[in-house]
Amino acid sequence: MLVVVLLASLASCSEPPRPTGVVVVLIDTLRADHLSSYGYPRPTSPVLDALAEEGTRFENAIAPSPWTLPSTATLMTGLYPSVHQAIWHSDTGEWLNTPEAFRPASVLSNSHRTLAELLQQSGFATAAFVRGSYPSAVFGFGQGFDHFADNEAPGVRFHVEDALGWLDRETPERFFLYLHTVEVHSPYTPVELPAYIARNNPDERLDYYRAEIEEEIVRYKGIDFNSGYDGAVDGSLEALNALKRKGRLSESDLEQLIALYDRGIAYTDYWIGELLDGLRERGLYEQTLVIVTSDHGEEFMDHGALEHSRTFFEEMVRVPLIIRVPGEAAGVVVAQQVGLVDVLPTVLDVLGVADEVPRQGRSLRPLWQGRSLDAHSELGEASAIPGVDALRTNHRKFVRGPRGQQALYDLDTDPGERINLCQVDDAPCRPFFTELMARKLENQLRLERLGTPDPATAELDDDTREQLRALGYAED
Ligand SMILES: [Zn+2]
Repeated sequence: MLVVVLLASLASCSEPPRPTGVVVVLIDTLRADHLSSYGYPRPTSPVLDALAEEGTRFENAIAPSPWTLPSTATLMTGLYPSVHQAIWHSDTGEWLNTPEAFRPASVLSNSHRTLAELLQQSGFATAAFVRGSYPSAVFGFGQGFDHFADNEAPGVRFHVEDALGWLDRETPERFFLYLHTVEVHSPYTPVELPAYIARNNPDERLDYYRAEIEEEIVRYKGIDFNSGYDGAVDGSLEALNALKRKGRLSESDLEQLIALYDRGIAYTDYWIGELLDGLRERGLYEQTLVIVTSDHGEEFMDHGALEHSRTFFEEMVRVPLIIRVPGEAAGVVVAQQVGLVDVLPTVLDVLGVADEVPRQGRSLRPLWQGRSLDAHSELGEASAIPGVDALRTNHRKFVRGPRGQQALYDLDTDPGERINLCQVDDAPCRPFFTELMARKLENQLRLERLGTPDPATAELDDDTREQLRALGYAED
């Protein structure tokens, strides 16, 4: 007995204490290859690069979908889109051709036990500071948060300040903070005061916002990666829509768009730095698990289009994933493919929180502890084009098109995904097609077992409509 107790105490000595704080930052629309630590030549991300040096950087982290609602729901549930069912822009998908038909339909069902709910039930104070329409309460993301600041403030600066203010006010023993930022998402323009915030706030608050917004515009515009540009393209939705209508753009206009996108990254990176410094000043940093990731990437004519939501090419699904656990591995780079679906199981593993729901992801902790995990294909679902699915392994990507077309790319020899290995003969595609079908069937069965009710329809209020419009989504 004594020996057992002694061994147990030795074992507990070798493990660092579990974190008492969790911070998850989702930078909407951030493709991994535009961060310096992921090989980008511009200095877009000094803070995230330093964070990666203190933790683990996942070189191949894959989002399950090319747009916000399904991907963020996967982050929060550890389930693939066809299982959590927060997957539809509208009942038909018709809105892509007919903007008037846009009716956001599905929400993250209340029947799911989310990451926030699990942590709340384990005694963590939970707070979210979100910007953007989909991560909002209307779409089911308020579940499990004691405090859910749903598009209450105009930008990342205010989210960071409000989050630190919440910590100061609540002084929670254990906490979970979720930040969702949109400064990298189009339009690639500085923060402004939306009309619904102007409507919903008292004058003093608006004065404060206006003063700080002025400061933020200076900070934002002070980052200039393309100072020699003298063309007419700016990052506004009008400019983007005009370019999309035209269908092509000059090399120098494209360079400008990319520089504007990169500016949003560097600007957001600065504020994440302020958040982490805020944790340090409060003595919380060394007991907080920090995760930074994104829900999907962005296309700059890589495959003939702009923005996101339809395809599963690398610029769309390869997102950053940086995890820092105090007292655990530092400066680790993991090449093995992982998914956003793995984030929830990883957080629970690090915290030692139990979970009764079988998730589809798995804890990534072994990968920074020098242990291995079996290779696992990542599923891509819920494109805005109905009927498109993808399956990605460490080396290859298979895509099934809406009319049953098949494509297979060798990611090692053809990272730009130009050569369809099934163009002439579909033999190389067959095993991928079989696995994709098996995975889809598995998801179908899992959905039936979970008994998730039919996805509810979001009732959009005027503020949410306005936010969707501001982010460039057409609606009726
Ligand atoms: Zn998004």
